[in-house]
Amino acid sequence: MIRASTRLFAVLGSPVHHSLSPQIQNPAFQSAGVDGVYVALGCSPDDLAGLIRGISRGGGGGNVTLPHKEDAARIVDEPSELVLRTGACNTFWSANGVVHGENTDVTGFRGAVESLLCRPPHGLKVLLLGAGGAARGALVGLLDDNVGQVSIWNRTVKRAEQLVADLGDDHTSVIQSEATLSDESFDLIVNSTSVGLRPNEPAPIDLSRVRRPQAVLDLVYRPDETALVREARAQGISAADGGEMLVRQGAEAFALWWNRAAPLEVMLGALADVRRGS
Ligand code: NAP
Repeated sequence: MIRASTRLFAVLGSPVHHSLSPQIQNPAFQSAGVDGVYVALGCSPDDLAGLIRGISRGGGGGNVTLPHKEDAARIVDEPSELVLRTGACNTFWSANGVVHGENTDVTGFRGAVESLLCRPPHGLKVLLLGAGGAARGALVGLLDDNVGQVSIWNRTVKRAEQLVADLGDDHTSVIQSEATLSDESFDLIVNSTSVGLRPNEPAPIDLSRVRRPQAVLDLVYRPDETALVREARAQGISAADGGEMLVRQGAEAFALWWNRAAPLEVMLGALADVRRGS
């Protein structure tokens, strides 16, 4: 039941109507018996700071999704080490009047990669598509897992160059032209662009134009399969969308808000229910 004591949690983004976080967090709150409610709020760049501060100081917290993660990193009072490294914040809450920020996408991403490959990606050659907030978390996760090489392709090449300048090391490089993709081979392809989010949107890369990777991880998630995952599976490539990452980043956020472990199985079950349409 919603009472005066109920804490408000919200995912802030634009667009945000596609978010499955309310359908995953609310069952987790109920299962854990915590007094909170989780909603999705469409949020313009101008409203972001006010909503983060207002909701946190009102005793709640939440998540930030596209395109606001980089702005959120600048808004919170106490950014975590991962927020400072990635320059992106996806989780906020307040303690003693101080607004804290964390990037739980990094842990969520690493867990999803390991689950897809059945091992950590040590030594692998990775193609990372995109250079936005999600790419920042993915790149830090890949480098922390000691991948062999990360090549980054982004529609706006300058943004990929900035990403490498900010976070890269000897193991990172920028692909300057999409045409050269077919010359290379990759073990793992990660899509961190928002392409595929809208119904009937094509995959962000034509898989027939690159040498066959071992696995494809699409950070985009939808109630149904994304075009990239569908096309990868049709070619017999092991593939997953962003559903498991969503649950894992959400579980870590839950633990920060409530100071207790999240009911991970309940959250995975809630995602499966959404996908079954129940
Ligand atoms: P963002 O900061 O707005 O970045 C968007 C990225 O997509 C940029 O690299 C952008 O390229 C690229 N892009 C957008 N439209 C494009 C198009 N038509 N063609 C080619 N590239 C295009 O967003 P974000 O926060 O990184 O999120 C990206 C996606 O990851 C979203 O779909 C989000 O839902 C998903 N995500 C999922 C999880 C999860 O838990 N599964 C977590 C985080 C994010 P430009 O730089 O050229 O604009």
